[in-house]
Amino acid sequence: MRGLFTDITGQEMAVGLLTRALEQGASHAYLFSGPPGVGKTEAALAFAAGLACPEGGCGVCATCRRVKEGLHPDIEIVAPEGNFIRKEEITEINLHAVYRPYEAKAKVYIFLEADSFNIEAANAFLKTLEEPPGHVHFILVTDRPERLLPTIASRCQLVTFSPVAARAIAADLSGRLGVKEREAELIARVAGGNLSYARELATSDTVRRQRDVLLDLARDLPRAGLLDTEVALDDAMASVESREAEVVPEIKAELKRALEWAGDARTKKWLEKRSEDKIKRQQRRLRTQGLQTLTHVFAGWYRDLALVSAGAEDAVLNRDRLSELQTVVRPGGLRAYTDAVEAVQKAEERLRYNVDARLAVGDMFRSIKEALA
Ligand SMILES: [Zn+2]
Repeated sequence: MRGLFTDITGQEMAVGLLTRALEQGASHAYLFSGPPGVGKTEAALAFAAGLACPEGGCGVCATCRRVKEGLHPDIEIVAPEGNFIRKEEITEINLHAVYRPYEAKAKVYIFLEADSFNIEAANAFLKTLEEPPGHVHFILVTDRPERLLPTIASRCQLVTFSPVAARAIAADLSGRLGVKEREAELIARVAGGNLSYARELATSDTVRRQRDVLLDLARDLPRAGLLDTEVALDDAMASVESREAEVVPEIKAELKRALEWAGDARTKKWLEKRSEDKIKRQQRRLRTQGLQTLTHVFAGWYRDLALVSAGAEDAVLNRDRLSELQTVVRPGGLRAYTDAVEAVQKAEERLRYNVDARLAVGDMFRSIKEALA
């Protein structure tokens, strides 16, 4: 079972709880809750592999591998289409849940963004959640637990994930990816507890460029004219969308490998459908991540300016930009920079509740400019 959770870093409590559950017998429903980018989805897939694997979660057999890739017929991954998980989807699950698993030891349903049930879907789901068939497990994953219906949340065992400590992130980057110590420390600081963002900063040129573009935008925004602000908004939104195409080749390659093993035409068709769903899901995830990165980088920049203006250079996040921060900082600007950070936090809050993204970011730009006028 040791191999199952090796990709999860800095979540000893959660991993301990899940490991014990696999050893001693798992509950029927779990709620994985915690901030974005700390490994909840990866842990859900690993835990599902543990439930499905004939060896109790070896991490290396065909079952474990297929579950982790999201290509196992007994492990269903459900994500919202548009803003909601809809009732039709749940009705289908209620119907299928009663049948025995095809080949695995258990049937597992993983709900991503599990706070997105609309009310009809939630009510339909409650019925199955109250009396699930013996072979069924549900894993609900969310970073907005406050939006879940209490009747649903109270029927799940809570598994809490925390922001990953900077030290743990730096060690992860050095140990796993061979990043040099100083660089790993810088990235860990910049990522602010978000492990998956840290790993991307360490491995992807696109993500590093995206950060540079966003930092430049944050720096130049206060002085930008009306037209420049519009262009900046286009650039910011382009940075959010820039990565959506990235996932396609990788998932297509995965599908190709899976098809080589697939027997009949029906299995092939099923795999293709699964793969399409996965592309949609990953693109949705990248878009959400893009928006989170945007607000994270903007908030970090103005927070750094507030720190520099207060003489607290040591606490700056964007260490690699310190001299630039010192050049553009306005003496006595602490209050204005704090207001700018608040404007970003407000946008972040609106984006969490599915407000039109361009609108929310445009409003954020205006508020920042007002604060720093
Ligand atoms: Zn296994």
